[in-house]
Amino acid sequence: MQQRLWVERRNGRSNGGGGTEGSPVSVLVVQNANQIDVKDMAWAQSLADETGCQIDWQRVDDNAWGQQKNPSLAAGDVPDIVIRGIGQGDAAQFPNLFVDISTKLDQLPNVARFFEEKPDARHLAENADGEIFSLTSSRGKAYDATGQHMMINKTWLDELGLAIPTTWDELETVLEAFKTQDPNGNGVADEIPMNIRPVDAGWYSPLLFLNSTGIVTSFNKGPSTSGIYVQDGVVKDWLISDGLKDVIAYYHELMSKGLIPADALTKDASAYYADQTGDGETARTGVIFGWSLADFGDMADQYVAMPVPAQDASMDPSEVVWDASDNEFEGGKLAVSVAAEDNPCVWKVVDALYSEKFSVQQFLGALGEYVEDNGNGTYTVLPAYQEALDDGQATALSDRLAGWIPDSVTIINEKNADELQEVDSVYSEQRSNFDPVLDRMPDYVTLTAAESTEVSNLNTAIQNYAWQKLSEWIMNGGVESEWDGYVKQLDGLGIEKVVEIWQTAYDQQVEK
Ligand code: MG
Repeated sequence: MQQRLWVERRNGRSNGGGGTEGSPVSVLVVQNANQIDVKDMAWAQSLADETGCQIDWQRVDDNAWGQQKNPSLAAGDVPDIVIRGIGQGDAAQFPNLFVDISTKLDQLPNVARFFEEKPDARHLAENADGEIFSLTSSRGKAYDATGQHMMINKTWLDELGLAIPTTWDELETVLEAFKTQDPNGNGVADEIPMNIRPVDAGWYSPLLFLNSTGIVTSFNKGPSTSGIYVQDGVVKDWLISDGLKDVIAYYHELMSKGLIPADALTKDASAYYADQTGDGETARTGVIFGWSLADFGDMADQYVAMPVPAQDASMDPSEVVWDASDNEFEGGKLAVSVAAEDNPCVWKVVDALYSEKFSVQQFLGALGEYVEDNGNGTYTVLPAYQEALDDGQATALSDRLAGWIPDSVTIINEKNADELQEVDSVYSEQRSNFDPVLDRMPDYVTLTAAESTEVSNLNTAIQNYAWQKLSEWIMNGGVESEWDGYVKQLDGLGIEKVVEIWQTAYDQQVEK
């Protein structure tokens, strides 16, 4: 045993790493520009005290890391632990640089428990061979929510004596009233009945209306953003679905009637956000897709989230669904250099990061300073946390944490989560109308590097054509007459190949 340890230490040294027993652990954290330097976060010092290990914290900003990552990896020059800087793809591109953490779980009781309680978190971290080169994180159950919401001005509805619309026809009627009846009461027809962002499929996309037709989107990330969806285990592409055709025709109708601004698809993002907050005294916008009521600034009190309306009144409510994304887990959070594998302190540090107390502190800030520990898994966010945020400074790693906030934890006064839950709860019924496995592509399903390149090349051509066409139809009409030609064009660009690749990956990786 002695002999073997010594050999492993020698190997550690010969690999160029500093990761031998007893040596300091270097931890590189890729940080957002508005975050306090990790070295100056009090919890970082407590973590060293708790583990009895010397830790050399290093901060790097996103841009700098973007430039230095590949050269560093090519040179084999990696810190012992990298937080939020190495994903599965990097580990695949530079093999033998990072430890397969799945072989270390006996030294990582917190991580092992995380994966037992949250199998999706483990799936998300694993590659097709079950290896784990970068750990998943969890912000906790409060973030098991889409982050994609449809919100409407309830003050205007009340003013006009109207109810929240439940079908596309009802929505159109409401938007007409917003346009013509001066619901903000300033005597000027300055209302924007509904505002949408440019056509693509990502955060707050106008194509969220696909859910009105029964197509489950998952627009926070993954292949749903390029067209893939799943119905009863069968992979399909919504870019060539009848649902999309109907959504586009509906948007054209709204735009042609002046219920959506004519420049909505070409306006820059700052102008769009300015319409939401207005001048802080008089609301101008009726309906949007967004993150939470905080999107409306000082006008937030006037708005509520609403379930997406059904495409038509003949549909059973159970056929209408809502975006399946969640914000609880994120992959690519923590990787360990093979050169550091034999330093026991490395594994002590990794496991401590995934403990309840250090996860909460990585997420929000040091105990006593920004968060109060009330005992029994309950914590209260202190005013200093929000005050710092209001000054543009984040006191912790926020969603970049490499940790796990278990379901047993309750965090009081966490504004972002409270705001998210406030709007997300409206969708619990629509989100229960699909099967999370049979009717969506789970986040953990991945393609091989070669498939990924092929799909990405096909998608570039497909999207260049499709986004342009969809925008054109919303603005000028023509979707019905030109639809068949469009579908044919996408066939020619290989859309069926993309579907086939995802179907194979789904069938191989999903346990049904
Ligand atoms: Mg007005």
